[in-house]
Amino acid sequence: MAREIFIDTAECTGCELCADRLPEVFEITREGFSRVHNDSGADTRRIQDVIDNCPAECIHWK
Ligand code: SF4
Repeated sequence: MAREIFIDTAECTGCELCADRLPEVFEITREGFSRVHNDSGADTRRIQDVIDNCPAECIHWK
């Protein structure tokens, strides 16, 4: 089973790094924070790379 991603939107700055690197998984909402629109849109290693580079450290595995 694919791992689920959790974004702590209270901490997200809307910098768009995640959506730029993995647009098949992340998108920026009109409210200006990231959301996951497709949990299975990329392999775990690429998602982990985005998690490791999120400047707000607000993306986590559930
Ligand atoms: S990289 Fe992190 S801080 Fe930047 S938009 Fe994505 S979740 Fe938010």
